[in-house]
Amino acid sequence: MRRWTPVVLAALLGAGPVQAAGAASTPAAAAMEARSGFAAFVAALRPDAEARGVTPRTFSAAFAGISGPDPDILARTRKQGEFGRPVWDYLVGAVSAGRIARGQAQARRLAPVLARIEARYGVPRWIVLAFWGVESDFGASAGSVPTIRALATLAEAKFRGALFRDELLAALTILERGDVTPERMKGSWAGAMGQVQFLPSSFLAHAVDFDGDGHRDIWGSETDALASIAAYLKALGWNPGLSWGYEVILPPGFDLARYRGNLADFAQRGVRRADGEALPGAGLGSLFLPGGLGGPVFLITDNFEVVRAYNTSDSYALAVGHLADRLAGGPVLAAPWPVRDARLDKAGLQALQSGLAGRGLYAGEGDGRAGPKLREAVRQYQIAEGLPADGYATPALLDHLRRRP
Ligand code: CA
Repeated sequence: MRRWTPVVLAALLGAGPVQAAGAASTPAAAAMEARSGFAAFVAALRPDAEARGVTPRTFSAAFAGISGPDPDILARTRKQGEFGRPVWDYLVGAVSAGRIARGQAQARRLAPVLARIEARYGVPRWIVLAFWGVESDFGASAGSVPTIRALATLAEAKFRGALFRDELLAALTILERGDVTPERMKGSWAGAMGQVQFLPSSFLAHAVDFDGDGHRDIWGSETDALASIAAYLKALGWNPGLSWGYEVILPPGFDLARYRGNLADFAQRGVRRADGEALPGAGLGSLFLPGGLGGPVFLITDNFEVVRAYNTSDSYALAVGHLADRLAGGPVLAAPWPVRDARLDKAGLQALQSGLAGRGLYAGEGDGRAGPKLREAVRQYQIAEGLPADGYATPALLDHLRRRP
């Protein structure tokens, strides 16, 4: 089960059908219509919840005091998402000096429990702390929106099909198990809960009670929150022997067409870590140039894909990886980011996706999102055309494609 931060969700939801509150002629009539539609939605939900073992008592307690959808949440879903922010802008906020200092203080304070979590799940403390920092600023911003109402609002509006209705049923199951009370079950407007911002289905699959009090408490227990992050990453396939990746310096004349292989082979081809340390002798890596050839170059491992699986965004994964390195005392990025933002906008990305699909190079969705599939297709095109294969989707590349018959 994948999960999304509000940033990603806003982009996803923005593309979906928006159900208006009806054709009522006055605001008061519209509000009344919304409430009666909501009541019908809750009534229809009840038998499905009971089929999952949710008792009438738990169900009633969960919906006590919730008489209609949350208009603020519906408004949020209609806003344009921030998915289009360049990675360098995202990193400035996600890996700030203040956050690094706060994270290092947490690392000292929580050293014993972090050591136990490392030993149990094989995920380095710096990675666990970085997730915690990016998701909730180390628990300080876990979100104050009641989860049941948030999910019910999104589910009734049928955003993302049945996704939020399923998440709502999962949330009711959590309440039935007694891990948390409805009053304390809070998080983001998009239903991501607690200090780790798990959607309920992720909670059911991966949250753990690591402090041993009998409750999986990602809201109030730092120990449970940190261990739940590590348990989730382990389940996603985190390889304990590998970093997420490294910033690297390419030698002059490096052949970008050979962008994937053994880390040892990269070292042999003259690729050096930017921090001066040696690349490990084992493991696979691939080059990632999120700002194109003019910006920082990363050699990422399968663990980068594990981070991306936690949250499907390149910017997010890079922020977690880099924050982890900085918390561990690593240096700032060596290479500067591009001065000019030369990325394609959404319409441009869709045109590129369609052009590359027409050439049999791209088989993903025409969703206007840059990700690993589009990067791969761009590289194949660049290689075929004798261009430097940085996988970076720019207006110049789209022009190049359009000039080809
Ligand atoms: Ca606990």
